[in-house]
Amino acid sequence: MTRKIFYENEEQLEFDAKIIEQIQDGKYWKIVLDQTCFYPEGGGQPADKGTIEGKKVLNVKKEEDNIYHFLKEKIEQTKVHCKVDHNWRYDYMQQHTGQHIISGALMKIGNYPTVSVHQGESATTIEIDAPDIPKNDIFKVEELSNEIINLNIPISSHFTDLEGLKHFTLRRPTKATENIRIIQIEDFDTVACGGVHFTRTGKVGLIKWEGMEKIRGRIRLSWKIGNRAIMDYHEKMEIINNLNVIFSSQQHQLIERIQKLQENQFQITGEKMELENQLSEAIKDKLKTQTETINSNNQSINLIYKEFNNFNPNILKKVMEKLLESENTFILFFNHLENRFNWIIAHSMNLSLPIPKQIQELLSHINGKGGGKPPIWQGIGTKAEGIPQLKESLINIIKSN
Ligand SMILES: [Zn+2]
Repeated sequence: MTRKIFYENEEQLEFDAKIIEQIQDGKYWKIVLDQTCFYPEGGGQPADKGTIEGKKVLNVKKEEDNIYHFLKEKIEQTKVHCKVDHNWRYDYMQQHTGQHIISGALMKIGNYPTVSVHQGESATTIEIDAPDIPKNDIFKVEELSNEIINLNIPISSHFTDLEGLKHFTLRRPTKATENIRIIQIEDFDTVACGGVHFTRTGKVGLIKWEGMEKIRGRIRLSWKIGNRAIMDYHEKMEIINNLNVIFSSQQHQLIERIQKLQENQFQITGEKMELENQLSEAIKDKLKTQTETINSNNQSINLIYKEFNNFNPNILKKVMEKLLESENTFILFFNHLENRFNWIIAHSMNLSLPIPKQIQELLSHINGKGGGKPPIWQGIGTKAEGIPQLKESLINIIKSN
């Protein structure tokens, strides 16, 4: 059985050990040491990272009484020097210890029991068994948590059994029946937990509430803890400072400035739509005076053919829609862009023409791609010199219908 230094001295991160066993498991070597500071994953806390004799430890898992260190390669010697990744472990000790403090504060402020915890890569979330929580209570929880950190209260840990458990009032009942590990932040918070924690609250540094959401009728609170809170502050400060420069404002004026900008934007969008409408109406009226009448066997159709250059596609679409409101109308539009052009073939709803059957043949004239369904087809083309042939073929289709 591996001696668990991480429970005896939770802040020790460097140690010497003897290799007891090395087992090849697929592409990994599972190494068992006589003692270890490497915390295996469990209780919501991720496995430690680090090195054994300079070789990377990729994962650490507890299986029954053994703790396996997963490496990519075998280690030749028996006596090894090991190092746990300080930044990784420190971050998760801040998250984990911080979570104990917040959960304790939630109980003290409003009897909000913690039902589940997630230590994510960017935030730590705590789900409480309550349908709601006033913001004022959250601020009180944050304030009390930071007070507990500032008081730098000792955190003790020890193992007990069911009999010994009777001497403690746990914040949350435990299912464990033996080797029950008690984590006590003096008289502030007592809970059964198998994770690793600091020995004093001060190292948690800072706790900042960042948001809440309702999930399955409960509240999930999201927190920035320790260095993550500081990093988050830096990031927010950077954003605010940049916005202050952009808007020539101070941070308390920012919301008002952005709201004004938004109002202006709405107004401009409205005006733009109105102008587009008027313009498309005028273009439609002009195009209606330029129609070619094509007589087929049983009807006469108004063909509107027009080539545009770099024209606004929204307005073009509006023009088309307006023209198609009239019966017996057939549209053939081209909009020339830099190295290609857009094409539109469309007709009024009352017409029935065999365009779907002929579309590929029509497009072959202009090296075109795209498609559609009656009564609108559109796409791109690259062979502008084929446009007259396409028009010719289309007229023939209309005539022979
Ligand atoms: Zn814990």
